[in-house]
Amino acid sequence: MSAGLHVLSGDGEVMEGNTVERLLQLQEIDTLIGDRQARLAALRAESDQLVAELAGLEKETIALNARLETVEGELRQAERTVQAGRATLKRLQLRAQEVHNMREHTAARAEVDAARQNLEAAEDDLLDAMQDQESARSALSDLEGDIASRQQEYGERLADLDEERQRLEEEIAVDLDRRSNRALRIDERARSLYDTVRQGTADSPLAPLVDGVCGHCYTAIPLQTQQVIRAGRVLVVCETCGVILHVAD
Ligand SMILES: [Zn+2]
Repeated sequence: MSAGLHVLSGDGEVMEGNTVERLLQLQEIDTLIGDRQARLAALRAESDQLVAELAGLEKETIALNARLETVEGELRQAERTVQAGRATLKRLQLRAQEVHNMREHTAARAEVDAARQNLEAAEDDLLDAMQDQESARSALSDLEGDIASRQQEYGERLADLDEERQRLEEEIAVDLDRRSNRALRIDERARSLYDTVRQGTADSPLAPLVDGVCGHCYTAIPLQTQQVIRAGRVLVVCETCGVILHVAD
């Protein structure tokens, strides 16, 4: 036996002849479970994404409502300023009719001009506030329409995702049951080696010997070790990548 190789039963203990076959069946189930779990994770990620998007839209609605409230407050303020400006202008115009001399006339005229300019400025502000209100209302209404259609669309998708998730969870539960039944029929040391290798590698714990190299990492396997693998009496682990090597079908 070549140095450094981990083998299952080195002390003359011989594993059951069909151990590799059983481990391969276990690996098949594990691959299936892995695929289903990956699909499940993808479904969950998609659901989370949709829920987050809807929550984002609702947050945006709250912000726009707050903006609309502010704009409407500014609009009411601008209306009051315009009303006050009109009253002031009217009062000054009446007073200007009661002047007694040229000096008073000039002074009253200046006051009226200033009041008119103030009023014009207030009217400009009012127009701006009305436009702000209009654009806030229209943005809000667009957003509400968008939310309604997305709630409909996402709601249907979320229901589909949930259905698929439940189906996958049931399938995985059946697979896991099948797996533990299969695992019970495998020599405990072989099973434990399999589990250890599986935790250490992201993919399959078993790899075939292909043309004298490890089917997983493609490292050349010494001839003597190849013979040990072919004899099928012990489990041999690739020294480079750690997978359990077996004879290809
Ligand atoms: Zn390898």
